[in-house]
Order: sequence, then structure tokens, then C-alpha cells
Amino acid sequence: MLADLKIENTLGEGLENTKIPFTSLMESGGGAVVLNDEIKLFGNTPTEAEVIDLSNFLTENEEIIFYTKQLKKHFAAAENYKKSASGILSIRLGRAKNHFIIWFRPEVSETVSWGGNPNKKITYNEEKQRLSPRKSFEKWTEKLDGISNSWQDYEVETAKAFRENLNQFILKKQKEEISRLNQNLEEANKDLKLFSYGISHDLRSPLRGITGYTQILKEDFSENLPAEALETIETILKSSNRMEGIIDDILSFSKITGGELQNKNFSTKKLLQELLVSFNIKTNYPNFNIEIAENLPYTYGDCPMISQLWSNLLGNALKYTQQAPYPQIKIGSFSQENKDVFYIKDNGIGIPEHQKDQIFKMFSRFAKKDFKGTGIGLAIVARILEKHNGKIWVESEPEKGSTFFFHL
Ligand code: ADP
Repeated sequence: MLADLKIENTLGEGLENTKIPFTSLMESGGGAVVLNDEIKLFGNTPTEAEVIDLSNFLTENEEIIFYTKQLKKHFAAAENYKKSASGILSIRLGRAKNHFIIWFRPEVSETVSWGGNPNKKITYNEEKQRLSPRKSFEKWTEKLDGISNSWQDYEVETAKAFRENLNQFILKKQKEEISRLNQNLEEANKDLKLFSYGISHDLRSPLRGITGYTQILKEDFSENLPAEALETIETILKSSNRMEGIIDDILSFSKITGGELQNKNFSTKKLLQELLVSFNIKTNYPNFNIEIAENLPYTYGDCPMISQLWSNLLGNALKYTQQAPYPQIKIGSFSQENKDVFYIKDNGIGIPEHQKDQIFKMFSRFAKKDFKGTGIGLAIVARILEKHNGKIWVESEPEKGSTFFFHL
């Protein structure tokens, strides 16, 4: 039977096509294969809906193997199909919750072939499961209401052995499935790399053409152009700048998604000082008061990624605090549950409560038009933290400022 199972088929299909049906492994009227929603019935069984119902009952029951000669005693609904399934023996397959093979046994009265007049005096010897014509037939049928022949030890053992073998088959199938999925994933990853490459090269060069030629128009022909045309030129330049920003951000996002982490220990303070230099703070943000705590702990992580994370948080703090009368940014850390929590606090425009979860999603931005941006920065931050098994959260009050906290 096991040799007849084919790896490319589902278990249900496989068991349907074995030369010897699995229902003949032991005395039974019929059987069912339940693999979540895939239900196959063989021989004399309850209806499909009834078997689904029964499998839900079996799911609640934690046992790997369950058998009874009087199902309705455990599961009242079985009264309705006692003729075909007074007794059941079911095995749970694999680790899934709702994978079963079930054998059904009909009510004894259905299996007895009567030698003579059923109204003759007879009796049922429960131990020997035999009838002898002493007591009344009515009494006997009453006693055997919804009862099937008992499941014997050797039948239970057979079911267990069958289960072991099927589990091995399922495991082999799962291995094949995983390797197929892995291959798909590898191909998808390759496509993604090609896609990023396509974006960086194929989109950037025409964009450079647009910006370059517009710049020429502006520089060489502005004297001959009406004011309206000059304004149009400015809009083109602004839009292409914006597009360049989006392309850069998407590229850095895809690099994070694909790349492997190169973790090491490095000075957080040094990283931040270098970042401040690259932001050219003194020239670009002369009125800002920026404080970095002395006692910042070292960071263990992927240095370029963490640098990008800080760069995005710092960039936002600068951007959204620019309009404050006394713009102030504080960077520090504290220890919480054995983790170093870093924070960056600003006294900028703040974030309303209902936006707090949204801001970490790709392309979601809420600030007014006068703040430039793409809505990708915090999605990158969240992704970097995800890769480091870290966490980020924000406390904020509109018009007062925001504090972003994170740990790795
Ligand atoms: P971007 O800044 O390009 O719009 P981000 O993903 O970096 O995109 O941020 C998403 C949104 O979160 C911003 O549009 C803004 O509404 C809000 N936000 C982020 N940082 C701050 C901050 N420090 N203060 C106020 N709002 C912020």
C-alpha cells in the first residue's frame, strides 16, 4: 500500500489509488482521509458534512489514536449515523491539528447475518460478541444500540504502525515542498536584485538627462524666457530631485531586505559624531542645540545599517523640528530588562496618537507639504530593527515633540 503512494500526489489522492484500499487493513465498513479541508470518503461512511463535524471533535481531543465501539457516548451527534459508524478508530497524522485517517465500523445489528427468525429468543454474550437464541431480540438490539464490534489490540497496533509509515511519507513530501519553496524564494530574490539594479541604472540615467537638460535651460536661456517658463523649470527640477530621493530610498530599502548582517561591536558615540559631520550641522542647522549623552554604550550590530538607522532618525528630528523657536535634539540611552535602549528626543511638530503605528509603514507620511520626504525612512528603520531582532516605539505629543526609542 505504501509503495503505491506517489510523492507528487496528496495523501488523499494517494490513498484513493492504492491497489489494496486502506480500509481493508482491518475489519471496517468504510473510512475517511481528512487533511484539513480535503476530505475523501471510502465505502460506507457518514456524510462529508458529518465527517467534517466529527474531525472537529477529534481535533479537540489531543490523542494521537482514538477508538471506541460506541462513538455516540463521546460525541452525541454520532447517533445520526450509528448505522454506518457506531465505532471509529482514528489516527492523527503528522503535526497538523486536523489530519486524520478514520476507520468506521457499523452497528453490530447491521453486521449480524441472521440464521433464522430474528424474533426467536436470542441473547448476546458481550465478552464473546456472539449471539445465542435465548433472550428476546428486542432486548438484544436495545443493548447494542449504537455499538459496533470491539477494536482488537492487533488492530490498534496495525493502525499505529500504519501511522508511523504515513508520517514518514508526509515528512518526505514536506521536505520536497520545502526545497521547492526554497528554490522559488531564491528565484524571487534574484528577481529582486535585478529589479533594484534596474531601478538604479535604468531609472537614474533618464532622470539625470531630465535634470541636466533642465539645468542647461535654466543657466543658458533664462534671460530669454518669460517668468512663467522659469517657474516651470524650477518645478521640473524640484520634481526630479524628489524622484531621485525616492529612488535612493527604495534602493537602500531593497539592500537591507536582501543583505546579510555583518555584526560587530562599535562605538555608538563615534558613529553619531561622524553623522553630525556628514549632516554639516553647523552650516545647515546653526540654531539647533544637539546633545549627545556621554555614557552611550557600544552597539553590537551591522554598522552600515545602524548608521543608516540613526541617519534616518536624526534626519527626521532635524527636519520636523526646524520650525521650532529653540530647536533641540537629545540623544541618550538607558538600560531596561538587560537591554540598552537608545532614544532620540526632539521638540518638533510631534505626532498625533492615531498616526503612531502608521508612520513605520512604507510610503506613509503625514507631515504637511512644507516638509520634504518620501515616507520610506521609518520603514527602513523598522526593517533594520527587524533584522536585528530589535524594537522601536515612539512617544510624542503634537506641537511639543517626539521621542523615538529603540533597542537591538
Ligand atoms: P518622511 O520623513 O520621508 O516623510 P519617514 O518614514 O521618515 O518619512 O516618516 C514618516 C512620517 O512620520 C513623516 O511623514 C512624519 O509625519 C512622521 N515623523 C517621523 N519622524 C518625525 C519626528 N521626529 N517628528 C514628527 N513627525 C515625524
